[in-house]
Amino acid sequence: MTLAVLRLSHRIIRDKRITTHLALTARAFGASEFFYSGDHDSKIEESIEDVCKQWGGKFLITHIGKPLKFIKEWKKNNGVVIHLTMYGVELSDNLQKIIEILEKETLVVVGGAKVPGTIFELADYNVAIGHQPHSEVAALAVLFDNVFEEEVRKKRFSDAKLEIIPSERGKQTKKIK
Ligand code: SAM
Repeated sequence: MTLAVLRLSHRIIRDKRITTHLALTARAFGASEFFYSGDHDSKIEESIEDVCKQWGGKFLITHIGKPLKFIKEWKKNNGVVIHLTMYGVELSDNLQKIIEILEKETLVVVGGAKVPGTIFELADYNVAIGHQPHSEVAALAVLFDNVFEEEVRKKRFSDAKLEIIPSERGKQTKKIK
């Protein structure tokens, strides 16, 4: 199973933090790949790669030039596309189906500024996390948390150099290598 996230229309100046947070959320909640369109931003790629070196796991971040072509190819290769949008069908009304889908080759698409109508048509599922506007980071985290629950929150990452020792107070970590 491949679980990947595609972030549309990254803007290097305005979206630096939110796209970084989106990639970190994708990684922490079990995705193995993160694609983004819009501006190519090597700083974001470097910062995500640094996190992976320290905290482990296999996670790739790749810029793509043509998101529509990319989505079409994903579908041609039998992948499923879930688009997160407040206009879609509310997650809790389709949760079982979405859980089954996320066991397959799945691309979760989240927007930036102005998502083109074609994305709504190309997506196999347009999924809403509530019908109020909020954030791509929140939408992704709520989707993955509903589907994977504590299994993913407690997952340990391979090749991690650092791990947290959970504690009620303070910050404790241990070095693995
Ligand atoms: N100003 C932007 C615009 O004009 O489209 C706002 C888009 S919103 C901040 C960015 C992305 O967050 C959306 O494209 C969607 O993927 C996600 N999002 C926001 N609210 C959502 C909701 N209630 N359900 C699912 N996804 C949501």
